[in-house]
Amino acid sequence: MKPENIREVCPVCGSSELYLEAGGYTGKLYRCKNCDYLGALIVEADEEMARAIREDYKKEKEA
Ligand SMILES: [Zn+2]
Repeated sequence: MKPENIREVCPVCGSSELYLEAGGYTGKLYRCKNCDYLGALIVEADEEMARAIREDYKKEKEA
């Protein structure tokens, strides 16, 4: 696994379209442009892992 392939992705949908919301008393919060996730948790994933999360998310949406 090459470290340069690691990106921060949304734990819900696997998108890398994450924005840092203004940190208040809760600390850092990230918002996902794709699924509107808002939370402190993000996933550091390589391309394969990001794809697995995206596919899981797609399956859940279709179910
Ligand atoms: Zn998302």
